[in-house]
Amino acid sequence: FTGVKRLSIFGKRRKRKTMKNLCNMSLDQLRDLVTGLGEPAYRAEQVWQWVWDKGVQRIEEMTNLSKDLRTKLAQAGEIRWPEIAEILVSSDTTVKFMLRLDDGALVETVLIPERTHTTQCLSTQVGCAMGCSFCSTGDMGFTRNMTMAEILGQVLVARQYLKDQGREIKELRNLVFMGMGEPLLNLDELMRSLAVLNSETGLGFSSRRITVSTVGVLKGLEVLGDSGLAMLAVSLHAPTQQLREQIMPTAAKAVPLDELMPVLDRYPLRPRQRITYEYIMLKGVNDKPEHAKGLVRLLGQRKAKVNLIAYNAGPDAPYQAPARMEILTFEKILHVKGLTATIRSSKGQDISAACGQLKADYIRRQLE
Ligand code: SF4
Repeated sequence: FTGVKRLSIFGKRRKRKTMKNLCNMSLDQLRDLVTGLGEPAYRAEQVWQWVWDKGVQRIEEMTNLSKDLRTKLAQAGEIRWPEIAEILVSSDTTVKFMLRLDDGALVETVLIPERTHTTQCLSTQVGCAMGCSFCSTGDMGFTRNMTMAEILGQVLVARQYLKDQGREIKELRNLVFMGMGEPLLNLDELMRSLAVLNSETGLGFSSRRITVSTVGVLKGLEVLGDSGLAMLAVSLHAPTQQLREQIMPTAAKAVPLDELMPVLDRYPLRPRQRITYEYIMLKGVNDKPEHAKGLVRLLGQRKAKVNLIAYNAGPDAPYQAPARMEILTFEKILHVKGLTATIRSSKGQDISAACGQLKADYIRRQLE
């Protein structure tokens, strides 16, 4: 772990909580709660702002509510964020949080420094059923879906971290659902979370600054597209069905490319908006000029842009990253054929920043 600053490690298991978590309630549910306590409905909006906009962690801090209401509210529920199990800060200032949920489950979220702002990568499931061959989370299998409180708790924890570091919370501008899990297989909680993220009195992110990345789940694509609450990225990783089945067998077999692409062609896009196709480059597997040409055949006539990601090879990794030269050659073929492509630099390599790697590393260290 060269250059890594490890900030904190908490106890092993958190106490089981049974009280209602206000972070798991929609505004309507909060209204029901406060009116049930004999208070006017507008009080719910005040509570909502304290929970999301102001990000308080204790009901006593909601100072524009009467003492009496705060007492009643504290008897009915509480504000519960995921607990920080560990924070790793990379030499390139990428910050990775290992978070512990109420049942002791561990999930990861990463803060990625960009030139003008910070992007946060969010998890939506504990583990993942998709088993993509290049992904550490896939190796763990699926445990359960995360709740809205757990999904959005990642943002609340990150904002608090920035505040504690004396940084501005508005620096956290972009959110990408590219962490652990397949977001569209946790559709209900994802959609509830997106509504709070998009709400001005909630977390106040613009839908253009939120990207949901999926392997391609047909029903979820329809719901997400109709909502207009986020941008779309598709984990493609191969130009053909055969190679996609080799790299990401579960997802590719569940929805073959000839079913997926027509659905994506109907995906509602704003003028000039395009779907991002993620392409993780694996040495000797999908990084050759013939693969680039295949991508051009698949996407050249579509509203598409390609994100090329060099594989982040952790310990015991099944693949290697291609040489920089091969990535540049690949990108050039796409450009020459008029397909927009960007190379995403791999941040936080010294802290296992790729999906699921920190958790795998954390568990390994606990066992040592
Ligand atoms: Fe799941 Fe995404 Fe990992 Fe595939 S890459 S196994 S969808 S978390």
